[in-house]
Amino acid sequence: PGGRIPLIAGNWKMNLDHLQSIAFVQKLAWNLKDASHSYSDVEVAIFPPFTDLRSVQTLISADKLELAYGGQDLSAADSGAYTGEISGQFLAKLDCAYVIIGHSERRTMHNETDEVVAAKVAAALKHGLVPVLCVGETAEDLEKFGPSAVPVAQLKAALVGVPSTANIVVAYEPVWAIGSGQAATPEQAENVCAALRTVLAETLSDEAAAATRILYGGSVKSGNIAGFMREPNVDGALVGGASLDLDEFSAIVRFKK
Ligand code: PEP
Repeated sequence: PGGRIPLIAGNWKMNLDHLQSIAFVQKLAWNLKDASHSYSDVEVAIFPPFTDLRSVQTLISADKLELAYGGQDLSAADSGAYTGEISGQFLAKLDCAYVIIGHSERRTMHNETDEVVAAKVAAALKHGLVPVLCVGETAEDLEKFGPSAVPVAQLKAALVGVPSTANIVVAYEPVWAIGSGQAATPEQAENVCAALRTVLAETLSDEAAAATRILYGGSVKSGNIAGFMREPNVDGALVGGASLDLDEFSAIVRFKK
């Protein structure tokens, strides 16, 4: 939509160890061979666990696969006494193009505030990684504040200090739709994504708003992807559960067919 190259992103969460990831990526690449998913058409990115990234990098570079990849999180710091953390420079060294930031599971289970998310966005940009910034409201938020108030506020908070020309991806993921089997309707997704694009125009620039891909995420499947992709402000999907099913994920990538 709007000349933006659609992005279909698979968030594996804590699934597939490094050996399983090798088998999965090989089969996925084979499955997508006839999908004509060159970067001029649809871009595909996978987000494996940190411990898989080295294997995935080796496989993708050795076989020259047209698959982008990234981490599911990063530290706001570069290095030092941060036990258990992974920094943006480590991800960049593994040729990651992207990094997911502010996923609702991180916000709730790891108490990531808007300030932490903003610091992580800055860290990603510093290391040349494209943040896939997740925003979205809970069912309670939806009832209390309406459909776009919380995602809009989260986006504004995350963009503090972001340069107007920054290359970012925004993912609108209503928390009530994640893993629930109950996706938003294409109209609901479009309305919030349009509101998020207005925020990009107001806080970054018109150019950035026109160029930035805004994804929908939350129970996306092969059976509902086409409806989302018909919306002018939805530029792709962040897929959780269905990204672990080779046939489902491949069918989502082929949403045009
Ligand atoms: C997610 O967690 O980013 C997600 C969209 O999950 P699911 O597709 O399983 O709803």
